[in-house]
Amino acid sequence: MKKILIIEDEKKISRYLQLELEHEGYSVDIADDGMIALELFKNDFYNIILLDLMLPKLSGEEVCRLIREKSDVPVIVLTARDKTFSKINLLDLGADDYITKPFIIGELLARIRVVLRNKKEFSNGKLASYGGIRLDLGKKIVYVDEKAVSLTKTEFNLLHYLILNREIVLSREQMLNSVWGYDYAGGEKIVDVYIKSLRKKMDYREQKLIHTIRGFGYILNEES
Ligand code: CA
Repeated sequence: MKKILIIEDEKKISRYLQLELEHEGYSVDIADDGMIALELFKNDFYNIILLDLMLPKLSGEEVCRLIREKSDVPVIVLTARDKTFSKINLLDLGADDYITKPFIIGELLARIRVVLRNKKEFSNGKLASYGGIRLDLGKKIVYVDEKAVSLTKTEFNLLHYLILNREIVLSREQMLNSVWGYDYAGGEKIVDVYIKSLRKKMDYREQKLIHTIRGFGYILNEES
């Protein structure tokens, strides 16, 4: 049975989530504050953590950071609508996803399923996937809509990096440093060259995944 830790100080919300999640067959623990959460986390195994950001004692950000020092358990942040936050900051914290309160329970359940599924693929260390693209990291093979596509080593690494940072705008500099390495002597233009060739190899698809963000860089996104 999959085990979920809910870290949320509003009892009405945590109790409601517990009932719904238990109804779906998950086992649920609740922590009313960050200190209790860390204590439970230390002594038990959880498949996924639902984390409210506005918590007494320790902030949700702090809790997330401390959990990340010890574990790569999936974390979904529950955040209030009126709080200004950036998705990138949440992902920088190490959260896997976020959902804005108030939310529909069905949406949360769907996100939990997606995060658990991605987690399974990544923890096998063998697969990375997004939007119909699947990378077999062991065999270095790429499948696009289940059809094998031949990529060079650099193209493969670049696509892997894009998938790991899906739905985030990446600068040419970030991509260059991560894929080519800091000691790469050539300029950022090389990134454009490789993006162009990746696009070309997936050209036959109706859905375009790699988008140019003018003045910033590129994003891998199913939505255009
Ligand atoms: Ca709260």
